[in-house]
Amino acid sequence: MQKIQMNIPLVEMDGDEMTRIIWKSIKEILLRPYIELKTDYYDLGLQKRDETEDKITVDAANATKKYGVAVKCATITPNAQRMEEYNLKQMWKSPNGTIRAILDGTVFRAPIIVKGIQPLIPTWKKPITIARHAYGDIYRNVEYRVGEPGKAELVFTNEKGEETRQTIFEFKDKGVLMGMHNIDRSIESFARACFNYALDVKQDLWFSTKDTISKKYDHTFKDIFQEIYDQEYKQKFEEAKIEYFYTLIDDAVARVIRSEGGYIWACKNYDGDVMSDMVATAFGSLAMMTSVLVSPEGNYEFEAAHGTVTRHYYKHLKGEETSTNSMATLFAWTGALKKRGELDGLMDLVEFANQLEEASLKTIEAGIMTKDLALIADIPNKRVVNTEDFLLEIKKTLDNMR
Ligand code: NAD
Repeated sequence: MQKIQMNIPLVEMDGDEMTRIIWKSIKEILLRPYIELKTDYYDLGLQKRDETEDKITVDAANATKKYGVAVKCATITPNAQRMEEYNLKQMWKSPNGTIRAILDGTVFRAPIIVKGIQPLIPTWKKPITIARHAYGDIYRNVEYRVGEPGKAELVFTNEKGEETRQTIFEFKDKGVLMGMHNIDRSIESFARACFNYALDVKQDLWFSTKDTISKKYDHTFKDIFQEIYDQEYKQKFEEAKIEYFYTLIDDAVARVIRSEGGYIWACKNYDGDVMSDMVATAFGSLAMMTSVLVSPEGNYEFEAAHGTVTRHYYKHLKGEETSTNSMATLFAWTGALKKRGELDGLMDLVEFANQLEEASLKTIEAGIMTKDLALIADIPNKRVVNTEDFLLEIKKTLDNMR
């Protein structure tokens, strides 16, 4: 059969450790035999980042702006131990943080659903996607430990030097204080990314904050979402037959637990951090969570939500067999290929990516899976396979389907 052709390259960001190994195998076993793969390749492995003083990460992000679609392998965010392990010149920043700062995006995380792996919440039947605002609030806070009686004030000084003051609290004793901020521009781009993504995947969008308690801070988020919705998206949502609705975070949590899934839940930064881990755990496994960064200009960067699976990599280096789950990394590739195909009008590429996803789900549903899934799957005749064999089994299923 003739290989599927591509016009515009995908921006390919290679990574570290076990996921780097999976990355190569996915391309060799499941992509190259079927697609004339065209990529603009950036090696974001830690060694290369160190060699290039992290310029490679910036180049990769800029290439994403140029071409519009990227696929990224998990990468090491260095800490003190990694500095020593890789003999680094500097403790380079998280590549995801750098890429996000350049693309200014919102991260959407969605679980891969497989028959036989029942979420811990029995009513959940469809994926719940969490959209997390990735700027400000508690992550850019200023904190103070109050050690003696005194008055705490919120002071804003404008450029002319005029002050606005409010008393926060009159301390009679020890206590704690915190200041946080956000900016309209960032909230607006968060809102647009959420509305665009909802239209893209044709799912309802929920947004929740605590505006009843936070009458200015959280209320501003609510107002900005509503204004942008009314002015720019209402009609498009009606045409797509999807809904946007705002609700208080407590109400949202209760509704999410009772729901059957199938929507996007937009959360403020902290809520999104906490809720995405809750949702990932309840859906079964971090190895089954995909993640996509969507910028307000409509650039996409697909990746797995998990890290480089270091524990398995050290086993691999010792020559021991591993059974690492490649589903989320594979879905990052299929997501990116589908998006490239949609943008370039290459329906055979879209179709292939869908088929590959289906083949991987069928393989698991037939009982062939990696160790992490075998622990949670309620599927008869389970057979645990190693990292590479899992991909080879998917290839067999795929070839039978084609
Ligand atoms: P991790 O996601 O690699 O592993 C967390 C736990 O989940 C481990 O017990 C691991 O065995 C298990 N797990 C994760 N993915 C799995 C898979 N595909 N198959 C089977 N089991 C899987 O996170 P970590 O151990 O906290 O971090 C390891 C490295 O990854 C760190 O250097 C960190 O900086 C990096 N990291 C990168 C990203 C990213 O690039 N997006 C995200 C998180 C962590």
